[in-house]
Amino acid sequence: MSEEKSLNFIEEIIEADLKSGKYQSIVTRFPPEPNGYLHIGHATSICLNFGLSKRFGGYTNLRFDDTNPVTEETEYVESIKQDVAWLGFEWKNELYASDYFEQLYGFAVKLIEKGFAYVDDLSAEEIASLKGSHTEPGKDSPYRNRSIEENLRLFSEMRAGKYKDGEKVLRARIDMAHPNMLMRDPIIYRIKHAHHHRTGDAWCIYPMYDFAHGQSDSIEHVTHSICTLEFVPHRELYDWFIEKLEIFPSHQYEFARRNLTYTVMSKRKLLQLVNDKHVDGWDDPRMPTISGMRRRGYTPEAFRDFCDRVGIAKRENIVDVGLLEFCVREHLNKIALRRMVVFDPLKVVLTNYEEVLGEVEMLVGEDNPEDPNSATREIPFGRELYIERDDFMENPPKKFFRLFPGGMVRLKHAYIIKCDEVVKDEAGQITELRCTYIPESKSGNDTSGINVKGTLHWVSANNNVTAEVRLYDRLFKVEDPSSEEGDFKDYINPNSLDVVATVYAEPALKNARMDDRYQFLRKGYFTLDTKDTYGRLVFNRTVTLKDGWAKEQKKSS
Ligand code: ATP
Ligand code: MG
Repeated sequence: MSEEKSLNFIEEIIEADLKSGKYQSIVTRFPPEPNGYLHIGHATSICLNFGLSKRFGGYTNLRFDDTNPVTEETEYVESIKQDVAWLGFEWKNELYASDYFEQLYGFAVKLIEKGFAYVDDLSAEEIASLKGSHTEPGKDSPYRNRSIEENLRLFSEMRAGKYKDGEKVLRARIDMAHPNMLMRDPIIYRIKHAHHHRTGDAWCIYPMYDFAHGQSDSIEHVTHSICTLEFVPHRELYDWFIEKLEIFPSHQYEFARRNLTYTVMSKRKLLQLVNDKHVDGWDDPRMPTISGMRRRGYTPEAFRDFCDRVGIAKRENIVDVGLLEFCVREHLNKIALRRMVVFDPLKVVLTNYEEVLGEVEMLVGEDNPEDPNSATREIPFGRELYIERDDFMENPPKKFFRLFPGGMVRLKHAYIIKCDEVVKDEAGQITELRCTYIPESKSGNDTSGINVKGTLHWVSANNNVTAEVRLYDRLFKVEDPSSEEGDFKDYINPNSLDVVATVYAEPALKNARMDDRYQFLRKGYFTLDTKDTYGRLVFNRTVTLKDGWAKEQKKSS
């Protein structure tokens, strides 16, 4: 975050808190529930929380909010850690809300002792039916006035496993007529005879979110607990528990969830895409997960830039995914190694080019023209080359600056060529172009005096490597699949993946590395796929060079 940028509303609050001396430094936390892989929405929260402690001094904890035993898995914990680290952030402590179970139990006992909690025998349905509505107050449970002694005994029996799931709950004793429905004696502990990924079978009662989150914040002395807007009504309860328990006063602040066009973001929906095999896993390159976008070739720098540019809002909104792609292009343009790859080859024979047996003419191309200290690579030339089939037209329209009969183009890093003759097979298909090259026109040492408008990428027909490329498009056909009628899955783009089984690449790509990013000239940005490719070269297209989508949309509308 640059210093000149104006502060967002949370930064303003923090700055005021530090100025007034309320805090000397700040503590934030990123609190994922380990029930799925992180997505770009989480990335926003990560950049925000870690960004704040970096900017204002202090630290950020990574806390797994693992109080619900049923949905949580260790696999998710590992992926979350990997994703946060990959985004470039270091947490101070790796913590688990489940490590606080004993302390949270103690807090509950303290509430009972102060007359602020009671054991209720009503079923979940009965409790709901007595809750009232926004216009009607609720009704007291018949168990609301149990003695403190009886509540203490029953609660310890709940813990000891004496009761079945749902037989009893512990509720806060607040006000059944409270205007905030969440304050009407909320449930704070329920019985669940379930195995927990960390605590095993040690517990059969588990705290509810509202009784775990704020208290965990308090235990860790979190100063600014930042969450999304749906928790606004919970804030009152958050404060109530902290006040009654007389523990460290953490405070909750809310910002709007990050939504992106052409994307769904809830873990529940992403899980459906995985389970119904619309994608090939959480890390499918079309998924808005951090692991998917990483596999697709997005960079941490691009994510952080995106979060910085968008900032945070107090109201729900939806950000154009094109902005994220813009940030990705901006970064890749700076770091990507340039390579030439022909997707749909058309053979070019240079009739005046003499090949010397056993010798190959090596040309030189810089890896990245954006970088003044760029390294270079060698590119073999030859009498027989491939160019892209659609870079040639027999009867071109005006302003077609590529190759046509009698026309001239430059081959990148090589020579100017002229098309003399078109060779066809019996079916009339063009099989070959017979061309001449201009020896004095070599790139970097061009004395030919010839000016051409078009420059084409190419590869040697006899000195290349083959690869597979996977071209990705947006996973959904509409801007906001979640708000359309019917099921969001009805709006899946059936053409979101196009596999080109064999493309022809310059030999330098034989040594492609996982960590490197590539720009295939005139084709887009690509990265090696990280999965079971069995020694084959498989590249994922990260993003096109320009926004082809917007153009398509305009054409079809
Ligand atoms: P989902 O609704 O996708 O399942 P969640 O809110 O249940 O997400 P958590 O694991 O509880 O996921 O989220 C961890 C943190 O990330 C929370 O602080 C949450 O507010 C934040 N977060 C989740 N989704 C978004 C989003 N779309 N934009 C911003 N922050 C988000
Ligand atoms: Mg959640």
